[in-house]
Amino acid sequence: MSEEKIYRTDDSRPLVELTHVEKHFGDLHVLKDINLKVAKGEVLVVVGPSGSGKSTMCRTINRLETIDSGDIRIDGKPLPQEGKELARLRAEVGMVFQSFNLFANKTILENVALAPIRVRHMAKKEAEDQAMELLARVGVDSQASKMPAQLSGGQQQRVAIARALAMHPKVMLFDEPTSALDPEMVNEVLDVMIELAHEGMTMICVTHEMGFARRAADRIVFMADGQILEEASPDEFFDHPKSERAKDFLSKIL
Ligand code: ADP
Ligand code: MG
Repeated sequence: MSEEKIYRTDDSRPLVELTHVEKHFGDLHVLKDINLKVAKGEVLVVVGPSGSGKSTMCRTINRLETIDSGDIRIDGKPLPQEGKELARLRAEVGMVFQSFNLFANKTILENVALAPIRVRHMAKKEAEDQAMELLARVGVDSQASKMPAQLSGGQQQRVAIARALAMHPKVMLFDEPTSALDPEMVNEVLDVMIELAHEGMTMICVTHEMGFARRAADRIVFMADGQILEEASPDEFFDHPKSERAKDFLSKIL
């Protein structure tokens, strides 16, 4: 009885929690009282016009940006400030950006094996075996010995996802991962993300791909001017947006 209760309590604790987060860039108030909870296994899609603070919010979660005030917790723990603890946080929070950011002078295999060796002190053989498994999972294992520039954008972005997964993150952040891709490559990346979502990965995805949002999201957050204006299920958001800002945004994007 008590065991069951402990299990439930743990499970209901948000994996990612932002409370009253404020952030300025000089005079620009870029995040305004952001409150957000993401449950374990949940897929949250963040949408909104350009300049609304979506990227900045993502970047605060793995502390690529500091915040002025408020609180951010991963799995109940406040974000560490520096040193080893910060490196561990970056490993726990995988991030995939618009630009693929692979190491240009390392092979695809090395790109995926490097961080587990350096940060997790994994043996080289073990890290490479894991890298091959992950590359197979995202469908680019046949490219393992190539250099990033030899791959298409879609392939490089799938490698970037494999590289983040190699650190066994608790949550994956995607910041417009398909925006820099040629249209014919968008789906091969979204398909990998949908598969991850089905496997139970906790994900925060900033995207303009509304088909993906409808299919994969458990919840949609709409941001504008540094604020979260709406939080709703995909059907609720797309079929019945409440704010004028969201209606306007959707009329332009759909
Ligand atoms: P989004 O991802 O929704 O397009 P961003 O978070 O990138 O929005 O940007 C929000 C606002 O903050 C924009 O006005 C942008 O110009 C500004 N901004 C972003 N990064 C910086 C920075 N490092 N220094 C100053 N202003 C920034
Ligand atoms: Mg952005």
